[in-house]
Amino acid sequence: MIIAVDGPAASGKGTVARALARHYGLPHLDTGLLYRAVAANVRAHDLDPAIEADAVAACDFDERLLTDPSLRDDAVGALASIVSAHPLVRSALFQRQKRFAAQTGGAVLDGRDIATVIAPDADAKLFVKATPQIRARRRHTELAARGDTTSFDRVLADIRVRDTRDSARSTAPLVQAVDAVLLDTSFLSIEASVRRAIELVEAQVRRADVQA
Ligand code: C5P
Repeated sequence: MIIAVDGPAASGKGTVARALARHYGLPHLDTGLLYRAVAANVRAHDLDPAIEADAVAACDFDERLLTDPSLRDDAVGALASIVSAHPLVRSALFQRQKRFAAQTGGAVLDGRDIATVIAPDADAKLFVKATPQIRARRRHTELAARGDTTSFDRVLADIRVRDTRDSARSTAPLVQAVDAVLLDTSFLSIEASVRRAIELVEAQVRRADVQA
């Protein structure tokens, strides 16, 4: 079974995808990490994220980078949303994600374009969202716990910029696939979000079985 989980930054998609992977015993790929690794590599080599050739050169990153906790920093996320808008960066990372999705037994992938581009034939597709204010509050709490003093207003502004950039780009924009089901986590706890996600996956798989 392939499960596609898409949604904007801090919507809870990563938490939901990890929980689904645990629940169904499937491998999980956080595809945002790939774009974050490219962004970190751009920064490490003093390249310009806005220049496509620079960003493409940074796609050949060391695998160990994927486990670097600094990839989670907001600055890297912001750079990732710049490099990810380049079509050639997306094609450089495409096969790797396709292969992961196609492995025997299936997989859970989360990102922005999983249901639309990477795994359009996924068995279940969730689009996870929450209001920008709630996402900013979650992100702000997370940053504060790490000792980061970035203000709430700054975090909210960054989230809005990232949403706009990810949704407005011409290649693989952040959009709910027509056959994806919506999971709004704005007023749900983590446990309730995960319970609901499992129910939604079960319902999609049941519906596919009936139609088969
Ligand atoms: O999900 P995360 O916040 O880690 O992603 C960082 C950035 O990488 C996003 O803002 C987005 O621009 C990009 N991304 C993407 N496609 C994906 C996953 C992430 O464009 N499948």
